[in-house]
Amino acid sequence: MKKNWRRIIITVLEVLAVLLLLAPAYRLACGIGLKKVYSNSGISIYADDTRYKEEAEQMAETLRVQLLKVDSDYSPKISIYFCRTMAEFHIKAMAIGKPLALSRTGLKAILIRPCDWTKNSIEPRKPQLLPRSLSSVLLHEALHHYERKKLGAFRFFKKLHSENWKIEGFCEYHSASSSFPTDKGLRIFSGEDNYEFVTCNEIKPEYFYFVSRLQTDYLLNFKKVSESDYWSTKYDENQLDDEIRQALKEKRYAFVVSD
Ligand SMILES: [Zn+2]
Repeated sequence: MKKNWRRIIITVLEVLAVLLLLAPAYRLACGIGLKKVYSNSGISIYADDTRYKEEAEQMAETLRVQLLKVDSDYSPKISIYFCRTMAEFHIKAMAIGKPLALSRTGLKAILIRPCDWTKNSIEPRKPQLLPRSLSSVLLHEALHHYERKKLGAFRFFKKLHSENWKIEGFCEYHSASSSFPTDKGLRIFSGEDNYEFVTCNEIKPEYFYFVSRLQTDYLLNFKKVSESDYWSTKYDENQLDDEIRQALKEKRYAFVVSD
């Protein structure tokens, strides 16, 4: 609950910043201490080292292609900041907890926690979790910007607080990657394994992302629900989870993914 309040406060601050036209100032502040490594057609990348221009160009190109696969009409306007320290990440992203990355959609910014960004991999925050490819993390974050554009700012923020599983599930589904190991996640979800694994290891957010991706995959990939129905239908989550468990049990549905 405490975290929810903090998130609502940050959302309000973000909305105020947008209303007061502070987005350029925010992005300027995010760039402090970093160098612009790449900038072209709506995507800018800031990092501490300008040696890797080619890698940055490749990264932006991959992201652009991945986004076009989701929606051929979408042209992103995003600045990506690779933070050098966790302190810098927390301050610039106004971050709560220790996520791999954070989007400030209204401010058109994506902030990435410290990582060797030229290696396309981000180490997990706990040993029980898997490393993720940087390209999948970037796509996940960029898709939040897409969701905001597609849904409209008001609907996006409403869903962020009332149906967050859709907001996160949509991004995880399209970026096709999880920090949570699939087999373990499916066993916990099906009740064959103990949920204590999640609570004891403090990996609740990653399990939430895993289940959100599973729910979204079930609806969009298995049931072939259209994206507009996915966004507009008010699902009873318990009912949906039971339906997925049943389909998994009867082997009608298989959650086939690469982690
Ligand atoms: Zn997200």
